[in-house]
Amino acid sequence: MKKIAILGSTGSIGRSTLAVADRFADRIEVFGLAGGRNFEALSKQVRSFRPKVVVVGDGEPSGELVQACKESGSTLAKGVEGLAGLASDSNVDTVVSAIVGATGLEPTLRAVQAGKRVALANKEVLVMAGELVMKTARRYGAEILPVDSEHNAIFQCLEGNSRGSLRQILLCATGGPLRNRNRGELGTVTVEEALNHPRWNMGRKVSVDSATMMNKGLEMIEARHLFDLKSEQIRVVVHPQAIVHSLVEYVDGSVIAQLSRADMEIPIQYCLSYPERWADENKHLDLTAVSPLEFYEPDAGKFPALGLARAALESGGEVPIVLNAADEVAVEAFLSGEIGFVDIMEVVSEVLQKEMPEFSNNLESIIGIDHQARAVAADVVMKLRER
Ligand code: MG
Repeated sequence: MKKIAILGSTGSIGRSTLAVADRFADRIEVFGLAGGRNFEALSKQVRSFRPKVVVVGDGEPSGELVQACKESGSTLAKGVEGLAGLASDSNVDTVVSAIVGATGLEPTLRAVQAGKRVALANKEVLVMAGELVMKTARRYGAEILPVDSEHNAIFQCLEGNSRGSLRQILLCATGGPLRNRNRGELGTVTVEEALNHPRWNMGRKVSVDSATMMNKGLEMIEARHLFDLKSEQIRVVVHPQAIVHSLVEYVDGSVIAQLSRADMEIPIQYCLSYPERWADENKHLDLTAVSPLEFYEPDAGKFPALGLARAALESGGEVPIVLNAADEVAVEAFLSGEIGFVDIMEVVSEVLQKEMPEFSNNLESIIGIDHQARAVAADVVMKLRER
């Protein structure tokens, strides 16, 4: 039995992970669940999976959740300490890190320090602290397997091939819901339109990031750390069908791709089963039903996020942290109706120009820069609102 802990169990990745765990209940034991504020969903999960440990945020858990934990024999823990405890619990083999945003960084680092296999779905962890996390993983023998579909694809395409023969990776992007809008029409994009992703059903933050293409920008930085690549080895291609999830080109001109249905359960399952593959009849891909498969160059003028992220990737240090923090604040402001769609990148680029505390490669420094960038971003949002 593989014992797993899911950090962020009520979110989109968390729910998909539980669907996989449910299908392979003979191989996977859900040891721990950590959820945020959705106590109702968490209570249901607790009743179905009867985890040993349940972790919630700092607020007071609902009576229903307390009751569900009591009936299921689950220990209820709280806050950052609870998360860290679950992430490093000696009973856990694999930690699924799926808490969106910067909150997931600390518990993920704890899992890495405990030498776990970490199925990493939270891309912000690597964007903010890629060097620290990868260095710590090498030191403690932790295994980081990417859940993000593109990186999971690249991980699969690299298997059995010599790293020295790699020419570049091709990171696929669907182009998001605004792919066919022209640049002038982006000013009027509503929250609903930005959330309406054509292929993937995802959380709100990722969906908006997908519409701005910042999601792909963050994924370039994620790939740089996961696979130890140089900027010029990372290329983005738009592939609207989301069947090819990414590709690796080798020096002899061979290109290896990973294809599957656009279904997050597939990469999640591979992170749990690796190096095995577990049979699932329902995941068959009928290639003749999904053709044609198209590939385009991304429109860098329409999506400034790609250029901002590329520059952040190349600078390293505090710049990716600032990029990520500013984007998170700006997306939140867009979702709550405070700023418009094109303002998101305006906030990000303005915050990137501000003076930030000096970077050093440790958690305190990273969190300090993150907080500072968020405060500056909140000011920029305020300024935009007063326009
Ligand atoms: Mg992705």
